[in-house]
Amino acid sequence: MALIKCPECKQEVSDQAVACPHCAFPIAAQLADKLHPETALLIVHPSMFGNHPLYFLLCVALIPAGIATAFMFAQPLLVVLSGVGLAILVGWWLVCESTELTVTTKRTILRRGLLSKSTNEIRNKDVRDIHVAQSLFHRLMGTGSLGISSAAEEGGDIEIAGIPYPQQAAELIRKNQ
Ligand SMILES: [Zn+2]
Repeated sequence: MALIKCPECKQEVSDQAVACPHCAFPIAAQLADKLHPETALLIVHPSMFGNHPLYFLLCVALIPAGIATAFMFAQPLLVVLSGVGLAILVGWWLVCESTELTVTTKRTILRRGLLSKSTNEIRNKDVRDIHVAQSLFHRLMGTGSLGISSAAEEGGDIEIAGIPYPQQAAELIRKNQ
């Protein structure tokens, strides 16, 4: 047994104490965190091409198609088609970028939202059920949806579609439970 300084009240406490006897600071939890710090194992965003490849290609194709048809038919307004394709791609990209699933050694965190952000997290030990859904098509593309339900009272379930490596994400969560 050794004496350490409580990080909160700076008084001497046993390193075996669950909590500081002076200020109730959780000593044991703090030491456990130091020994096994939380590290991110996987960070993924929904894929654009991997989730909706045909739609993605259609939007990409609109860009040259708008310019080409504008010239072909001498109708400058057809360039609007290029603008529509580009706008959809940019908006879609922003939504995908602002949606992030992080699996750490302790938690699974889902962040959503560009302007108004929402965060939902489930501690790995509270995970009750993990559900991976992949259609044949998505399996070929290496994407799928992941659902995690929590046994905890607070916080809701996590649900995210069209992410790469859904099976690996589920596996990592199970391994770290
Ligand atoms: Zn203390």
